[in-house]
Amino acid sequence: MTEAVPTDPRAEADRGRVALWLDPDDLRRPARHCCCPADAEEEATDRCARLRFPAGAALHENGLSG
Ligand SMILES: [Zn+2]
Repeated sequence: MTEAVPTDPRAEADRGRVALWLDPDDLRRPARHCCCPADAEEEATDRCARLRFPAGAALHENGLSG
């Protein structure tokens, strides 16, 4: 298992990223379930995965994935 690396707010901002605080209950469904239709464009499912993966990681890292 890889050691969790703390987020560097400045490095993230330099990459054009923004911080986002969400309720764990609102993250659980997207973390576990892709709602994209079967015929969704690959760009849409890729974007979905880029949201779902950190959602699951955030829950896991905070001991909230159960
Ligand atoms: Zn999806």
